[in-house]
Amino acid sequence: MKAVCLLSGGLDSATCLAWARQQGFEVYALSFDYGQRHRVELSAATRIAEALGAAAHRTAKIDLRVFGHSALTDDIDVPKGRDEAAMSADIPVTYVPARNTIFLSFALAWAEVLEADAIVIGVNALDYSGYPDCRPEFIEAFQTMANLATKTGVEGRTKVKIHTPLLKLSKADIVRLGAELNVPFGITHSCYDPDLTTGHPCGQCDSCILRARGFREAGVVDPTA
Ligand code: ZN
Repeated sequence: MKAVCLLSGGLDSATCLAWARQQGFEVYALSFDYGQRHRVELSAATRIAEALGAAAHRTAKIDLRVFGHSALTDDIDVPKGRDEAAMSADIPVTYVPARNTIFLSFALAWAEVLEADAIVIGVNALDYSGYPDCRPEFIEAFQTMANLATKTGVEGRTKVKIHTPLLKLSKADIVRLGAELNVPFGITHSCYDPDLTTGHPCGQCDSCILRARGFREAGVVDPTA
């Protein structure tokens, strides 16, 4: 049983990888060097893939700065110090146009090569309710498309299922699940706007704030804090 697992280097995707291992999958971790300002997450991804026993880890280079238009890939400030009302008021500027569609397409290509029947992605519909490509209807539609799109699918050799183990979990639930699965939290990286020299998290972006709240609510100490 093989699964391609999208691995950003953050808490959520690390928990997904650990979940997939626990489910008995041989896990092929896939990361993207897409021009993100928080490229430091890629070294976290490498360490996590190794620590959690991925069968392989690849990083695809795709430069989404050619389109920009996101605070993660363009010269736009990452919002800081926002409360939850402000975070969920509308789709944030940290949304990267069509990112999950692009990432899942790459995952599908690798899954076809591996004849894997699973793709695992750490989307979450609660904390990021504004991200259109984190919604369950998007994932279902992609899965339908995926099974029409590949040679192995048409020949009936594999049918891809997209697993979203975090879809309905709060950040605190994700921390609890990660703790149960022995995720090495200390080597995960969540910040959108880390210090470029030290790689230290800013503590003020939406991702840092949600992470801190998740750990606090779960009653678990964040070793990176
Ligand atoms: Zn941050």
